[in-house]
Parts: sequence; C-alpha cells; structure tokens
Amino acid sequence: MLGGDFTESRNTFAVIDVRNYIHNLEYFQEKCAPAKVMPVIKANAYGHGAVMLAKSAEKWGIDYFAVAFLEEAIELRKNGISSDILVFNYVEPDFLTIAVENNITITMYSWEQLEKYSVVSKKPKVHVNVDTGMNRVGIKPQHVKDYIFKLKQDGFNVEGLYTHFAVADSDDIEDIKFTEQQYKLFEAIDVDVSIKHVCNSAAAIAGRIPCHNYVRVGIAGYGLMPGKRIYRNLKPVLSWKTAVSHVKYIEKGESISYGRTFVADKRMKVATIPVGYADGYWRHLSNKGEVLIRGKRCRILGRVCMDQFVVDVSHLENVNSGDEVVLIGEQLNENISAEEIAELVGTINYEVTCRISERVPRIYRGVEL
Ligand SMILES: *Cc1c(COP(=O)(O)O)cnc(C)c1O
Repeated sequence: MLGGDFTESRNTFAVIDVRNYIHNLEYFQEKCAPAKVMPVIKANAYGHGAVMLAKSAEKWGIDYFAVAFLEEAIELRKNGISSDILVFNYVEPDFLTIAVENNITITMYSWEQLEKYSVVSKKPKVHVNVDTGMNRVGIKPQHVKDYIFKLKQDGFNVEGLYTHFAVADSDDIEDIKFTEQQYKLFEAIDVDVSIKHVCNSAAAIAGRIPCHNYVRVGIAGYGLMPGKRIYRNLKPVLSWKTAVSHVKYIEKGESISYGRTFVADKRMKVATIPVGYADGYWRHLSNKGEVLIRGKRCRILGRVCMDQFVVDVSHLENVNSGDEVVLIGEQLNENISAEEIAELVGTINYEVTCRISERVPRIYRGVEL
C-alpha cells in the first residue's frame, strides 16, 4: 500500500492557484457591482476542482454557485458548501426530493417539465430560464408570465429568472445587436421575482449589458477568456506539469511511436513524457504540439499515446529524467496557454481544461481555509 505522504509516482499534476481564482472573482465583483458573482463551477469547475474552489470562494464571500447537474450540487453539499446552488440542467422528477432536502435550486424551462414535477409533493426552489435566442432550453418570453403563474399555483417557490446569451463573446456588430435583442426580450418580461441574472463571463467582460442581481462567471473565473478577446485583468488558475521520464538519442532514419509518423532526418536527442490521451492530453497534438522544458519549447515527435509521448530536446544542453515539464502554464519566460492548445486541436479553451482527466491529481496553491 502507498503511504500517507505519497504524492504521485510520475509527478504529474494540475496545479490550481486558488489565489488567482479569487483574484478573478474579485475583478468581476468590482466590475459588476452591485450585482454579485455567481461562480459557475459545473464539470468539476471546468476541470479545476469544484470542491476546493467553492470552499475558497464561499469563505471569500460568495453566496450562490451554479452547476449543470444535481449530482454536482450534491457533491458540494457533501463537502460542506452551504451557499445556494443553482442547477442549470435537466433533473429527473424522481430526484426532486433530494434537491429539496439539500436546498438546491432547480431550473425550470419547459411546460412538460412543469407537468412532470407538479405531481411530486415536495417542490424545490426554482429559477426560470427564458429562451431569448439560445434555443437550447427555456420558456419563450411571451409565455413566461403564464408559466410563472402556473408554477406559483402549483406550490413552487419561484426565486429567479434568467436567460443565456449566444454570442456575447463576439465584438462583431451583428452579434452585438443579437445580444442586445436577447436582452430586450428579457427586459420586456414583467414578473415579480427576487433574483434576475443574464450575464455570462463574455457579457460581463464586454460590459454592454447590465448584470442585474448576479453575474454567472464561468470561464473567466479560471482566468481564461471567452471567444477571441485577449486577457486584460485575469490570471490563469491552472497549470499542468509533469516530469521527463526518459532521455536518449535516436539515429537518422529511426522512427518514433505508433504508426511511425515521425522519422528522424538526423541524430536527435529526445525525451519521453509520461502523459497521454488518457490524461486528457490531446492525440491531435501528435507532431504538432509543444511542451516546456528548462524554459524552452520542445516539439512533439510522432503520435501521442495513451500514457506517453516523445519530444525533441536536441536544442537543450542539459536535460535529465525528472526535469519539470510544463504542458500548460509558465516556465521561466515561456508560456503555453490553454488557448494555444485549443487553436492547435481546433477547439476552445473551455474544452482543454474540462478534458484533463481524473487520472491527473489536482493540487492547490494558496488555499486559506
Ligand atoms: C456554462 C454557463 C455559464 C458560464 O459561461 P462562461 O462562458 O463559462 O462564463 C453561464 N450560464 C449558463 C446558463 C451556462 O450554462
């Protein structure tokens, strides 16, 4: 058995800087006041670790969190989070009682859902999602009044009303108009609820839309920007580190990894990295991506495997097994961002951090609990 002070034999970690998370929340708290920040910590806080971030944020003063699913909310309750928690997504009627018992706020977004929930005796506290143009879930603006009337009649505690923007991350004039249109549709709804919230990270950053009572800050809380805008006042929270597992020379004509997609055209020094696609590192980075060793960029050679890949270290004087490797984050004066990886594999920064699998332990810096 492995002992209590055991960390990880391969030295691979996602390092989560909690101070930066709080810094980013603070930024939005100031920018959006008097609206409060509702951190969106679905999907294990976009891969960063929801429990630890929620504990720290709650201690700092956060009083409402948002997650996608009921299980995520329960996980927070089990770990001592007592703030309100809003669930955005679908909850089977059989689970409503659990939501009520744990004081979890549920999103209401369709007539069908209302019908199903109405037969359940204990009713949860709810927020109504208005579909102003996202066309995912939500009640159409013209039906919201009737919907809320029916909810109240059926014994629901209707606490909140919200909508979600489709293109708030864009500075294109048509997109700005679309967001304004969404906002107008929302504003025209005349109902009496105590909490309204419309802005995600992108809308809060753009600052064109008033944030009402809460601003739902997801990606930007992690110091990552929605869309193509560049960083201003945010600090990335996550870095991903490992250590070199092996260093050797290969000769001209030798190939590396499955499929022999890389063949050396000269003698090269190469290093093996003990991380692969099972960790959520991207196979699409094969022959494309780079990592940092000794502050220098090192190119991936051949295919990324399930648990390891190989990089070129011919340009490094001194490199040994055990040396720190940065997959995402800073090393000396170099930096590899989640955006850089997203660009290379054809996705967005959100998916890059969400994908980092459970096999990678999260360690936390700057926790004051
Ligand atoms: C995920 C989500 C958010 C957070 O969006 P970010 O772009 O990460 O800030 C806000 N509201 C809803 C309804 C969401 O699903």
